[in-house]
Amino acid sequence: MKQYEICKLCPRGCGIDRNRKTGFCGESAVLRVARASLHMWEEPPLSGEVGSGTVFFSGCNLGCIFCQNHQIAHEHRGKEITTERLFEIFLELQAKGAANINLVTAVHFIPHVIKALDIAKEKGLSLPIVYNSGGYESAASLRLLKGYIDIYLPDYKYRSSILAERFSKAKNYPEVAEKALAEMFSQVGEPVFDENGMMKKGMIVRHLVLPKHTDDSMAVLQYLHETYGDSIYISIMNQYTPCRKFPEYPELSRKLTTYEYRKVVKFAESIGIRNGFLQSGETAKESFIPDFDEQGV
Ligand code: SF4
Repeated sequence: MKQYEICKLCPRGCGIDRNRKTGFCGESAVLRVARASLHMWEEPPLSGEVGSGTVFFSGCNLGCIFCQNHQIAHEHRGKEITTERLFEIFLELQAKGAANINLVTAVHFIPHVIKALDIAKEKGLSLPIVYNSGGYESAASLRLLKGYIDIYLPDYKYRSSILAERFSKAKNYPEVAEKALAEMFSQVGEPVFDENGMMKKGMIVRHLVLPKHTDDSMAVLQYLHETYGDSIYISIMNQYTPCRKFPEYPELSRKLTTYEYRKVVKFAESIGIRNGFLQSGETAKESFIPDFDEQGV
């Protein structure tokens, strides 16, 4: 596909021909998927009682050193598939009763996704489409998705460019994500729920609180609330799990403490965030992180 020939699908702007080599995301022009299954661990209006129909794409354009899905982001697990197989997967998830189709980290495969959605919709796909992203997206690529996505589910990971550079080699993450979120919101607008409380349209912004960096988390929440007020939902996540030891950043070698999470939640309450999702109890368990074993692919 043309967009892979001089790839600038994401803000990394590698400009390489993915038919010949791979860029920062580590993926060629061949579509690869690591897992497709019903997933219960999204926010309740996305998972419902049966689960969100998640499709985890291989590779990642952000590559955070602490990635919770490191098997796909860093180890590049996954299976090569065709566009035809991708639309079949969407329809299989719908047949299993999925609440939605949840595209996880799909930016580097947007052209394939659009083609697969076009065919799947012709063949009867009627579920809301969720675009689940690290937030490091170009507004131009997001515009290609206009009309295809019902629910945007981006992260806003850092307000600090120092942390963004240190942990994701993306110093410009804060401003890039700001523009990406603005484009996403312009496409889907205010949240819409059905009579069962399932989300049909809108934006949920996720923020994973990192150990020792609660100040940055509070800056993220402040920005989101000042910019979007009650027009979006904010999901404050406590599930940080160290994937290895980090001698250079010892704070990342431990889990988040209850005190740190409560501090951020209290701050959210104090500034008036009402549309929020919180996590409680022992969510920082590896069982919440799926195995990328090509199930359903
Ligand atoms: S999608 Fe991959 S190859 Fe393309 S610009 Fe982004 S990181 Fe580079």
